[in-house]
Amino acid sequence: MKMQAAVLEQFGVPMPVHQINLQAPAASEVLVRTTAAPFCSTDWLGWKAMRNKKTPVILGHTAVGIVEKTGADVTGIKLGDLVVVAGTPQCKECFYCEIGRPDQCSSLLDQPEPLVGTQEDGTRVKAAGRVGAYAQYMLANQNQVWALKSDLPHSQLSLLGCGITTGHGAVFNVAQVQPGQSVAIVGLGHVGQWMVQAARVAGAGMIIGLDPVPVRRELALELGATHILDPTTSDPVEQVRNLTQGRGADVVLEAAGPELAVQQAVMMSRRAGTVVLTGVQQFEASINLPQLALAIHGRRILACQNGQSIMDRDIPLCLNLLETGQYRAGPLVTAEYPLSKINEAMYASGELRDLSGVLTF
Ligand SMILES: [Zn+2]
Ligand SMILES: [Zn+2]
Repeated sequence: MKMQAAVLEQFGVPMPVHQINLQAPAASEVLVRTTAAPFCSTDWLGWKAMRNKKTPVILGHTAVGIVEKTGADVTGIKLGDLVVVAGTPQCKECFYCEIGRPDQCSSLLDQPEPLVGTQEDGTRVKAAGRVGAYAQYMLANQNQVWALKSDLPHSQLSLLGCGITTGHGAVFNVAQVQPGQSVAIVGLGHVGQWMVQAARVAGAGMIIGLDPVPVRRELALELGATHILDPTTSDPVEQVRNLTQGRGADVVLEAAGPELAVQQAVMMSRRAGTVVLTGVQQFEASINLPQLALAIHGRRILACQNGQSIMDRDIPLCLNLLETGQYRAGPLVTAEYPLSKINEAMYASGELRDLSGVLTF
């Protein structure tokens, strides 16, 4: 079977769309016809060689689509199902899945990216994040595929497998925000906007959104932020302390990436406050933090991959929040692109013009 796919061949060079001879699904795999795949800022970093990617590879680590074929061992997913192919699997067999931490599932983090097929010249092509969503079809293990029933646009549903669950999980699973708490959110990209919405649903008192981009701050206000701040005009740590009786926020959620943003996120939390770090600027980056702020001042610094989501539980939960209008995905889908415009989607993401540009098929 043949399909068109955008292939990352060389870092920093626009991705060509190639014809790929797709492999047949293995016994545990599902063949999914992609209908919508969001361009994620993670892939902008991957394209710039800031992730440890091996080429040639099809980027795109989440999507929704329709099941077209199932392997012999697949259960619970049938032909014609609308499914989300999520960025993080839940194999239910590895050490991490067994201790209740599928966000660290070995099938994602300890195993090489699987082959999808070959190009016309015989070059073997892999799937990023075991998904490879910037393609007409995906071959996904059933442990990464969840069936959905919804009439919402696929472009919106496609955010379930990465952005929504990451932002939702940072608030509910990791920080465990309590009603009335003050929450500061550093970085109002697509994950930050989901954190704003989740903090509102969690009943946070003050929700402070920080971002240098004016339209992102304005959208955060619309989605539930009570205060917005431009971190480039004056010291953001001081600005947050000024809003919180000089103490700092009860909870700070970081969704930016640069070392300075992480340091500021830590320092704008109050003593004994909670800080959740989700950003990664570069796969070899490290950060420096003051010891006093940690050990003596008792801050809890937590980290978060995919919101520590348990997808069996959290995909239905987040879908319900979308269906009931408590979460709004519409304003986050800022553009739709055909696969042939993949590079436009990529530049719009990297240059912060899109929150979520979604490839639709
Ligand atoms: Zn993503
Ligand atoms: Zn696992």
